[in-house]
Amino acid sequence: MPDRDPAVRPVLQGQCVWPVTPNRALVEGDASLFTAYDDPFRRPEAGFLGLPRVEFLPIHVEGIIAPAFVDWHFHYVQQRVTRHTGKPLLRWLREDAWPEEAKFSDRAFAEVAAQGFARQQLAAGTVAGACWGSPHASSLRAARAAGLRYSLIGPPVMTQGEPPSLVAPLASCLEDLKALQIEFEEALAVSPRFALSCDEQTLKELARFAFDYTLWVQTHLAENQEEVAAVAKAFPKARSYTDVYDQAGLLTPRTLLAHCIHLSEFDWRAIKQRGCIVVHCPTSNEALGSGRMPLEKVRALDIPWVLGTDVGAGPDLCMLDVIEAVMRVHDWEAPVTAVEAFFRATVSLETLETYASRKSRITRMLGTVRAGFIEFKRPVGIERSERDPEKILEAIVRAYDGNPRNSIAAVYDADCNLLYKNP
Ligand SMILES: [Zn+2]
Repeated sequence: MPDRDPAVRPVLQGQCVWPVTPNRALVEGDASLFTAYDDPFRRPEAGFLGLPRVEFLPIHVEGIIAPAFVDWHFHYVQQRVTRHTGKPLLRWLREDAWPEEAKFSDRAFAEVAAQGFARQQLAAGTVAGACWGSPHASSLRAARAAGLRYSLIGPPVMTQGEPPSLVAPLASCLEDLKALQIEFEEALAVSPRFALSCDEQTLKELARFAFDYTLWVQTHLAENQEEVAAVAKAFPKARSYTDVYDQAGLLTPRTLLAHCIHLSEFDWRAIKQRGCIVVHCPTSNEALGSGRMPLEKVRALDIPWVLGTDVGAGPDLCMLDVIEAVMRVHDWEAPVTAVEAFFRATVSLETLETYASRKSRITRMLGTVRAGFIEFKRPVGIERSERDPEKILEAIVRAYDGNPRNSIAAVYDADCNLLYKNP
């Protein structure tokens, strides 16, 4: 039988730094990257047992190849109000974030904003993550139409509190979610904005909705002391802010909890036992003066954690900014290396799914599949022969200096298709 023409697949070839665990990274001077998995240098077997023959077409890369970024907490609808901070959380929400989100009821406005965000997101090297829209279902549709990159996306559910322009009755929120679940399938994230935006019944109904359709939950937890005090007043029967979510059944291994700054020992143990994932947003916490997330606590209990920009409270939608911050703010209390920071900034949904569907008591994130590749520009002083991942990654972070164009040369998806090239 004559051989059919082989399928041609592009592969990246060049110097590579690949964090495989929080404390180990593979370094190669000139290798071909066949997959976005743990062992990216292994050539996949093909061409026998009826599998199609694959011919690999190397794309030679001058810079340094690393996994692409995954941002586990960002509000695309707040991008235009970034860098307006310096106010504490509740005031910032009232004065900047919520008025901006109200504008997304206008479809044309939402479409233009989503297109702008999608462009900047790719230039910043982010190819996936957990996105928040506005409470309007149309904001999600605009994001998808614009090609915005996300693994999960949800409209913040707000059924009580401020502001009246964004609050809607529970029945209409659930109706929206049902329609969105059909369109977005498992990418729809059930997203109670925070405890102050929902009553007990709303939180319970949302937990049930997430359970019924096996969806991820994302929310904010204990970001600011004023907020924690307001939650204690609004939910007098709950033992703590964390307990408000727990009583509703919202704390599961498919729950992403952003911030987690002002928590008690009991809260931390609850998060650990329910198996939730902490999304650490150090740049946002700095911008709003929310405080430092006690990373030493997360480590002591072996709670899985990932990184997020929290744009617009976070000032910059590039994860390099977050990496710089996480390596700086924890200092001697819980030092974070560049290898760990890059690992936490590139965890894919597949990895979190593996963790969430665990059948045993394994609590670490295992089996890393990445969402794509970045070619970083070669930083000054880093030769092709350099073997120390820490040194290479630190140099990339230093070169960034607030502008993705300083660091990022190109962005590829997991099949090595070019998504963005720095002009
Ligand atoms: Zn947020």
